[in-house]
Amino acid sequence: MNTPICLKSDGGKLEISLPALSQMLKFRQNRCWKSEAGGVLMGRYIRESLDVVIDDVTIPMRGDRRKRFNFFRDRDRHQRAINQAWQESDGTTHYLGEWHTHPEKVPIPSPSDRANWNRHLQQDIFSGDTLFFIIVGTESIGIWEGHLKNPIHILIGEFNYSHFNTR
Ligand SMILES: [Zn+2]
Repeated sequence: MNTPICLKSDGGKLEISLPALSQMLKFRQNRCWKSEAGGVLMGRYIRESLDVVIDDVTIPMRGDRRKRFNFFRDRDRHQRAINQAWQESDGTTHYLGEWHTHPEKVPIPSPSDRANWNRHLQQDIFSGDTLFFIIVGTESIGIWEGHLKNPIHILIGEFNYSHFNTR
């Protein structure tokens, strides 16, 4: 199975590790009864490079509100997971962004997704000036890059699941 690798706007690479990818793909809305899911992205800034690796994600937790076309995560519980990962990694695991699912083949961010992403960029605490946003569709995954000073999110990767040998 290949690891999805995207080219960031600064020339560095963003890699999605296989454990993180397969966690997200478990929540693909490929059945009509499956509701939206989501969580936060966590990973590392690779030293002496511009590269970033998403090592882990949080998955839906108690307190989240999940609907077919909506997902709201319980801020405190996911924040605790971020804090714990940061501590257990001696400060090398960082909050990198957000992911959620869509019940469509090729995911397209809704206006409220974009508003939420900008809210995260303005309000969340993170290193640097970039957050990443992933939408898991039923046939492909899309990865967007958001900048603190730019309200336009850039699509940096789109991968069809037929490239990955997951189920
Ligand atoms: Zn959405």
